[in-house]
Parts: sequence; C-alpha cells; structure tokens
Amino acid sequence: MASYDVIVIGAGPGGYVAAIRCAQLGLKTACVEGRETLGGTCLNVGCIPSKALLHASHQLHEAEHNFAAMGLRGKAPSVDWKQMLAYKDDVIGQNTKGIEFLFKKNKIDWIKGWAAIPEAGKVKVGDEVHEAKSIIVASGSEPSSIPNVEIDEKTVVSSTGALELPKVPKKLVVIGAGVIGLELGSVYARLGSQVEVIEFLDKVTPTMDGEVSKAFQRLLKKQGLNFTLGAAVQGVEAMKTKAKVTYKLRKDDSEHTVDADVVLVATGRKAFTDGLGLQALGVEMTDRGVIRTDKQWATNIPGIYAIGDAIEGPMLAHKAEDEGMAVAEVIAGKAGHVNYGVIPSVIYTHPEVASVGQTEEELKDQGRAYKVGKFSFMGNGRAKAVFAGDGFVKILADKDTDRILGAHIIGPSAGELIHEVCVAMEFGASAEDLALTCHAHPTFSEAVREAALACGDGAIHA
Ligand code: NAD
Repeated sequence: MASYDVIVIGAGPGGYVAAIRCAQLGLKTACVEGRETLGGTCLNVGCIPSKALLHASHQLHEAEHNFAAMGLRGKAPSVDWKQMLAYKDDVIGQNTKGIEFLFKKNKIDWIKGWAAIPEAGKVKVGDEVHEAKSIIVASGSEPSSIPNVEIDEKTVVSSTGALELPKVPKKLVVIGAGVIGLELGSVYARLGSQVEVIEFLDKVTPTMDGEVSKAFQRLLKKQGLNFTLGAAVQGVEAMKTKAKVTYKLRKDDSEHTVDADVVLVATGRKAFTDGLGLQALGVEMTDRGVIRTDKQWATNIPGIYAIGDAIEGPMLAHKAEDEGMAVAEVIAGKAGHVNYGVIPSVIYTHPEVASVGQTEEELKDQGRAYKVGKFSFMGNGRAKAVFAGDGFVKILADKDTDRILGAHIIGPSAGELIHEVCVAMEFGASAEDLALTCHAHPTFSEAVREAALACGDGAIHA
C-alpha cells in the first residue's frame, strides 16, 4: 500500500493535466488508468486519431479538387486505407508516449488498472488499496446510443469503431448531426463513401449559432454529405455486413428505411463512472447522471473531487483540462478558477467551425440589446489565394457598451482564429479593442478584425 497526497482516477485530458499540476505544486501524486496507454478517449479514440484522419482525407480532397487549378498536374493519390490507419495509430502512439514521459518527468506514479473507491481516502486497484488525502475522479465518458440501436463496433459503430473500420464503406449512415457525426462523416465522404446523415432536430449542430449552422450544412452538402433533418431514428437492424436504419419524419410521422454498409451512432456521450463504487459511497449525482460538484469541483463526500466529462458542462477535452488545473490549485490551497463563459468549441471539418460565448439566438432569448459585425472570407485575400473563401466571421457585441459577447467563425483555421476573441473576452474587451489591434497582412485573422470593425463604422473590404 502506498500513500499519496492525491490520486487521480483516469488519465484523459482532465486527469493527466490534474496529475501534472498537482505534482508541479509539490503534491505526491498518482494516477490510475486501466487502458494500455495514457491519454484517455481524446488521445486514444477521439480528438487526436480523428484529426489524423481528417488531415489525411483533406489532403486527398485538395489533390482531387484544387491541385489542377494551381498548375499541379498528375493523378490524384489513391487511398491505401491500411497505411492511413497505420499513420493514425502512429500519431496516437507518439501522443500517448508523450504523456508517459511527462508522468515520469513529474514523478507521477501510474497505477495500472481500474480503480474503485471503497471509502473516502482510499483507492482500490486490483488487490491493492492505496491511500490518498484527496481523490480526483476524472473517469470521462463513453458513447451513448438510442433505444433499439445496439452498437457492435462492426456494422453499427460508435466513434471508436469508426476510427478502425476494416475498409472504407460504400454507404455510411450517420445518426446525429453533431460534432462526431459531421467530423467522421466528412472523413468518409472525402474517402469516397456515400454519406447520409439523419438528425432529429431541424438543423445540424443544433446548439450552434443558427446562421453558422445553415452555412455549415450548405457547405457540407456541396462536399457530398446528404442530410435528412427532423427525423427520429426508431431502430437499426444489423445484419452480418449490412444494416437497415428506420426513422420517422417528425413533420408527418411517416416511416422510412435506409440501407447502409456501416451505421455510425453519434447521438452523444454519457458519463463513465462504472465500477467506481460511487453509489455505495453516497456520492450525489445529478438528474442527468453525472457527478454533482460544487464550484470548486468537490463532491458531497469530503476529499473526493470530480472533473471533466463525468460532471456537468460541455464534454470537451479543453474544458476538462482547465478543470484539472483548477482543482489541483484548489487542493494545493490556491485559488482555482474556470471561466465557463469563455470556453471555445471547434469542429475540425473543412472549413472549420469555431465559436465562443453566446449565440445570436441566446441573446435574443435574453432580450439583450446587441449588434452584429460580420465579414465574409471572400473579402480576405489570403483565403482567396488558398481556395478558402467560403465562410465568415460573426462577432456579437453589446449594443451600448460594445463589449464582445460571442464570436462564431466558419472558415479557414477557424479553430485557431477563435482564440484571439477568447483572449479579448477574458480581458473584457470591446469590439473596438479588436478592431484597433493591428493584424498582419495577409492573414486569415484580418477577417476577425474586419468583423470587429463591422461592429463599429464598418469593415474596409466588405
Ligand atoms: P452531440 O450531442 O454533439 O450530437 C448528437 C446529435 O444527435 C444531436 O444533434 C441530436 O439531436 C442527435 N440525435 C439524438 N438522438 C437522435 C435520434 N434518435 N435520431 C436522430 N438524431 C438524434 O454528440 P456527439 O456528436 O455524439 O458528440 C459527443 C460529445 O463529444 C459532445 O459533447 C461533443 O462536444 C464531444 N466531441 C467534441 C469534439 C470537438 O470538440 N471537436 C469532437 C468529437 C466529440
């Protein structure tokens, strides 16, 4: 039995970051992880592998669609799927080993196995019980399905199975037009699959700013993705190498079926807390089945904290990381803080989609007086030079004070551009502050400045 100041359960972005920060703050720290490799869903079967496949398939798209226009002649590359998967696995390996290195560097013990908490202050892994003054539960989430749809990870897959299909399917049906459905749907559409997305609500990425969501759907349609919106999937019948998806259109209750070689279920994720023994301990959960915490990530049981996908809030790696750092600071007696009003979200399709702060719909619902500054990438020289003129930047600012309330970007490198708005919002900046900041030419970021200018006397290149 070993004694620690802190034991973190789970080595995903929330857990491993919490462990590193605890160690940096001088706390004797261990992290329990049952997977063969560190990094959790994000590094092993989520963010990182999907980005590798998005990158590879985007290169193919460029070769097929834009090379000839730039005077680059020759046959477009063909897809060696096995090699593409090997490249993805290599990327995963580099990243997970990187975390192992960071654990060693920071003298964090990796306790291998699945943890349970028999009582506050104790963590059981296999036959061993370890002691800890504080325990941080960072156990993450797992794919959640819908009634009558059973995931077998062969013909009916979650994002995990979709990252290692034995071959590129001829026809892929995606259930759910959320982040996972559209990112992985894009990958397979670029690789030649016929992709059909079925979504319950009447728009794609339903929580996103409405104008962006509309433009996004239009651009994805141009790339060959088909959408059936307002359709509730009733069930999936899986056969050996095919599947049949049944859905009901909400407008008239009519029932339809569609065949697929592979069905991707991307209808959300749920907290993963199995086997931890939280119920027996009396740890309070919310109605949504996640661990209830206070503002300092403490559960109702003294000495047990929780962060990331296992608690309330958006299921995003960077939200978990921020909570990981903050809870470590709290445990070390410092002031840990996360500004939940400024958490960006990004969809890594092409073009990328990124947002932070409030949407126009939310501001309308609040009855808040706001102004909109918009700028199209068609007016951005750099974007036009690289076939990336589709999309726009939209900045929302308070009508009276000019304070930035939100930003929504669809366009080239949107996932990078959003961060200058995040920094501005952290400093309580006005749109004018952004507009008066010199931006290098020619960069995509000039579009952000122009949108800020459009909140005032007007953009220059509009
Ligand atoms: P999501 O919540 O983003 O989208 C699920 C979609 O499925 C919704 O649009 C919902 O209306 C639809 N749906 C639900 N039931 C349905 C039914 N019966 N028929 C048809 N449609 C139905 O969930 P996701 O895409 O599975 O992603 C899970 C989580 O992982 C999210 O929290 C997401 O933010 C996170 N994630 C983030 C990234 C990123 O940041 N780039 C990437 C992948 C995943």
